[in-house]
Amino acid sequence: MANNILFLGTGANDWLIEKRKKGMFFRRYTAALINGEVLIDCGPHIFDFVEHYGDPHLLDNVKTVVITHRHSDHFCPETLMKIAGDHDVTLVCDDFCFSQLTDTKGIKRIPMPLYKKTAIGDYKFIALPANHDVRGAGKDARHFIITMPDDKELYYGLDGTWFSTSEWLVLKKHQCAVMVLDCTIGRVKDARVFEHNNMSMVRMMVKQIRKSKVLAPGGVIVGSHFSRKLMPSHFNTRLMLKCYGIKAAEDGMKIEF
Ligand SMILES: [Zn+2]
Ligand SMILES: [Zn+2]
Repeated sequence: MANNILFLGTGANDWLIEKRKKGMFFRRYTAALINGEVLIDCGPHIFDFVEHYGDPHLLDNVKTVVITHRHSDHFCPETLMKIAGDHDVTLVCDDFCFSQLTDTKGIKRIPMPLYKKTAIGDYKFIALPANHDVRGAGKDARHFIITMPDDKELYYGLDGTWFSTSEWLVLKKHQCAVMVLDCTIGRVKDARVFEHNNMSMVRMMVKQIRKSKVLAPGGVIVGSHFSRKLMPSHFNTRLMLKCYGIKAAEDGMKIEF
């Protein structure tokens, strides 16, 4: 097992940290750390995770930061500047996010055009357009297929609803060891189905993923970005997703692949 993904946060933007009570189950805003080197999203809860995880050096080896989109649960300029203030990082983000940085010391921003393979260090990335319109920035959120140094592939698809045709056409050509799918909405009726998946959608998507062999043999599908208001308890979420062969993410969960 050469690779791992550590979930630093698994919640949608309705998990307000100021409302967290001691002992209660809690999700921070979604972010993930791959092999300790690639950080996907950089929201305001990252350092709270580091504090509770018990490893003050958790982010010391972060070489690349990839921002999926500008929503405030995924991007916090202060958090990013704090990481880059400690050591140099390569950054992938849209123009809006970059314009929010008041200090770019230690940050080398590189472009990542859609659909094309972009190499950063030992990793290769393919950015795909998510069905998740980011109003005000004029851009959609991005999903990513990331190829590890040992050629294993990981798909990270938060936020978004359903696959667009163009995203699926690319995905079909890959075999991912781990796939992280948006799973914001439970069974409740909510208009956010046009920007986030509900359980029925995830169930159908996973069937097709397996049928089309987009998941590598022995691969793992993970659901994340759970809404506090629209999902059942973590216990029930875990049970429901297990029926579909999906692992429910929780903060601090690490998957080796
Ligand atoms: Zn979000
Ligand atoms: Zn969003």
